[in-house]
Amino acid sequence: MKRRLVLLGAPGSGKGTQAEMITRQFGIPVTSPGAILRREKDLGTPLGLETAEITQRGDLVPDKIIIGLIEDWLRLHGGHGFVFDGFPRTLPQAESLRSILARLHASLDLAIWLEVSQETVRARISGRLQCRSCGFTTSVTSAKFAERPVCPYCDGPLVRRNDDDISVLQTRLREFATKTQPLADFYGKMSILHRVDGNRDREAVFSDISRLIEGKVPA
Ligand code: ADP
Repeated sequence: MKRRLVLLGAPGSGKGTQAEMITRQFGIPVTSPGAILRREKDLGTPLGLETAEITQRGDLVPDKIIIGLIEDWLRLHGGHGFVFDGFPRTLPQAESLRSILARLHASLDLAIWLEVSQETVRARISGRLQCRSCGFTTSVTSAKFAERPVCPYCDGPLVRRNDDDISVLQTRLREFATKTQPLADFYGKMSILHRVDGNRDREAVFSDISRLIEGKVPA
């Protein structure tokens, strides 16, 4: 199914998990600047090294770098629609995306906003484990993995993200509130914004998102 959508939400809102489920169910290609930057850092590339300190602090990476990544991605894979997980996160990023798409005579179908409470964010971030190899996300309380912190999909090591610490989380939440929150207005005005209650389990959230993607809910 060819759809162009962006998934927005605070750290711990479940963007990554939902993006993965969307790709699996609908075959829409996904990309996440956060995941790209983590991989670049693990690989020790110039981009990874340049941005490691910023992501480690919980600040947002400069727009120019992120927009460049998205432009490259769109050039290579953009023909079949997309799910952007964690992009755009600032007004200049949203404006750039709009003009890139306009040049391609395309537009966004959906901006999905995952709403989560402070308690949900704290609980998820403090218990989050992520596969260093493939990025699969789970939690320490997930009994199945607790004794053997190995990814069920690729056998990679399940580790805590180094920005999932409580003081870095404060910075990430502040960045979200000041820089990303204004995008609700931006996409609200374009009439493509849909708010989804992200405090529920992943299947309940995904069922709402699926309905939006299938176009059962009018914009
Ligand atoms: P989360 O949403 O939990 O913060 P992400 O994996 O989406 O996790 O992002 C991790 C980090 O990568 C962010 O804190 C930020 O430093 C950087 N990053 C990701 N996406 C963007 C973006 N669109 N603009 C600027 N920085 C970004």
